[in-house]
Amino acid sequence: MFLLLTEFVVWKIGKRAMRATQSHDSPTYSSRTRYVLRFTFYVLLYPSEPPFDSKESLFMLRNAFLTLSQSEKLRQMATDFALARKVSRRFVAGEQLAEAIQVIHQLERDGLLVTLDFLGENTDSETEANFYTEEQMRALDGIANAGVKANVSLKLTAMGLDISDELATRNLRRVLERARDRGKNFVRIDMESSDYIDRTLALYEKMRGEGLDNVGVVIQSYLYRSERDVLKLIDMGARVRLVKGAYDEPPHLAFPDKADVDANYIHLMKLLMSKEAREKGVYCAIASHDPQMIDATKAYAADQAIPRDAFEFQMLYGISTSMHHQLAKEGYRFRVYVPYGTHWYPYFMRRLAERPANVLFIARSLVKR
Ligand SMILES: Cc1cc2nc3c(=O)[nH]c(=O)nc-3n(C[C@H](O)[C@H](O)[C@H](O)COP(=O)(O)OP(=O)(O)OC[C@H]3O[C@@H](n4cnc5c(N)ncnc54)[C@H](O)[C@@H]3O)c2cc1C
Repeated sequence: MFLLLTEFVVWKIGKRAMRATQSHDSPTYSSRTRYVLRFTFYVLLYPSEPPFDSKESLFMLRNAFLTLSQSEKLRQMATDFALARKVSRRFVAGEQLAEAIQVIHQLERDGLLVTLDFLGENTDSETEANFYTEEQMRALDGIANAGVKANVSLKLTAMGLDISDELATRNLRRVLERARDRGKNFVRIDMESSDYIDRTLALYEKMRGEGLDNVGVVIQSYLYRSERDVLKLIDMGARVRLVKGAYDEPPHLAFPDKADVDANYIHLMKLLMSKEAREKGVYCAIASHDPQMIDATKAYAADQAIPRDAFEFQMLYGISTSMHHQLAKEGYRFRVYVPYGTHWYPYFMRRLAERPANVLFIARSLVKR
């Protein structure tokens, strides 16, 4: 009876949420919204029994959270909701640059390196794209003025890539020049969904061609194409961050099975850290919280006698924190990805997609308060 009642409430709220957001009314969107709602409800009702933990339901939940991460209406609703803003702090350093700088000071005191991310993505407004660009430059100034060593990460869709390549190119160039002039700092271009990969890599190559070498890119091991991209980047002596990939990609582009994504990750790590790649100037960042990826990297580095300053590990702020300190203590270069700003919603939803059990931790912390 109680279960029936729960299902009814989920159905009712799902219908209301759909009406409130209106932006998507496809059957996939509706069923994915209901799936997330059902999961959240069960977590709140039965916090001691983790529900939906089969391989299939985790896969469904991942896709459902990723679909919801793209809803503009839900983004607005969440950002206006004070409790949601509080909850986002689990993965976000703050809304203002000053708060992020404080966090950087603390992390650097603990011997960790930082890359700072001013949150933002997918704008079709030139004013917003220019604002995002100005904020990146303000962040570079803030880093230099505070005497911390952090570099920055950015997203080209926030700099106007959806508007035109020219706008994104102009904005990226401005940020790279500012970074170069503020203590030879470095800028990482995050990789977004597969629609943007060709243009992102082309822009990266263009900047390198203009002599702006203080820039790096990201490769995602879930994509079939990544080996080809890695081989090209090795030839260019690129600085590459290797990740598994955080977007909702179709099976004709990305390995549907986690085991294949993991195997490809290790394969690409070995290519990027090989003697040949290092001799060409490649510097690789292993960005993963997966102990298997970390151990495989450590083992390969030891086997090939790769010096510990020839590569680095990276993890996200607020995730697997004990490993951050452990790796730094073992003498590895370790960098924390620290996001800040008010556009935290899609970033936050991708973190829930990677680990739906995060909903459980958040629910528990709210109940405890
Ligand atoms: C520094 C950094 C930069 C990144 N930049 C990009 C980028 O530019 N483009 C892109 O597509 N993706 C990016 N990602 C995200 C990445 O693609 C993965 O989605 C994410 O790192 C999860 O994969 P994983 O390698 O940690 O392994 P998984 O197999 O997903 O996770 C391994 C283990 O790590 C822990 N874990 C993983 N994620 C979480 C989480 N959200 N909350 C709590 N625990 C978790 C869990 O214990 C899990 O079992 C970045 C990740 C990092 C660390």
